[in-house]
Amino acid sequence: MKRVAVFGGSFDPVHLGHLVPTVGAMETFGFSQVVFIPAYDPPHKRGNLLAPYSHRFAMLALATQPYERFYVSDLEMGRPGPTYTVDTLAAFAAGCHDAELYFLLGSDSFSQISTWHRWEELVDMAHLVVLHRATVWGEELASKIPEKLRQRRIPVKLFAPVPDPPPGTKAVYLLEHEPFPVSASLIRQRLAAGQTISELVPPEVHRWIVKYGLYHQRPYGC
Ligand code: ATP
Repeated sequence: MKRVAVFGGSFDPVHLGHLVPTVGAMETFGFSQVVFIPAYDPPHKRGNLLAPYSHRFAMLALATQPYERFYVSDLEMGRPGPTYTVDTLAAFAAGCHDAELYFLLGSDSFSQISTWHRWEELVDMAHLVVLHRATVWGEELASKIPEKLRQRRIPVKLFAPVPDPPPGTKAVYLLEHEPFPVSASLIRQRLAAGQTISELVPPEVHRWIVKYGLYHQRPYGC
């Protein structure tokens, strides 16, 4: 059966820390598609000033365009918030009967999974593929997740064969790769401070940010 991955997040903006580890995951797991779904009204970012959804979506469209198997989906667009991942994944799964579903997330997000809305449903809908973020990994990560998920952990090396979980269960794959220490917060802070970000995002995304003055100034309008 083909394998399809979903990657959710605020992507404010998308950066190489999202893209580079995901290329590694795609090749390791043999995903036929990786579908990036920008959050319309993310519950964990409420109260933060996010760039408009249209800009976050546009930057993802530009960033994913060069990759044949990367897609962007507007599944959450317009849904009254907060937009919960569990609902998004359920909606996605409903249209995806002939594939094994995987959900990608960074280890920082995974360390907080027990705070996610209806997380127990979510972890039974898809295999999780946890990307290595330098801020939390190993024993510290293990100590932060529920026992039920600790038991499901399967370490996977980049480009190595992927073991199957016991039949009928969902795995928590921990992808062992060099962390790519970039975050959207870092990018926003650097822009606000007038520093360059040109090596941290794809060139098309850099041009979009500069053109529309995102995160630092507005070059058009009133
Ligand atoms: P912010 O700094 O604004 O919190 P972020 O860079 O963490 O943003 P999000 O869009 O909030 O990016 O994250 C979407 C998903 O991507 C999350 O699961 C997050 O853990 C993961 N992610 C973000 N940056 C990286 C990275 N450098 N390596 C691996 N995963 C990442």
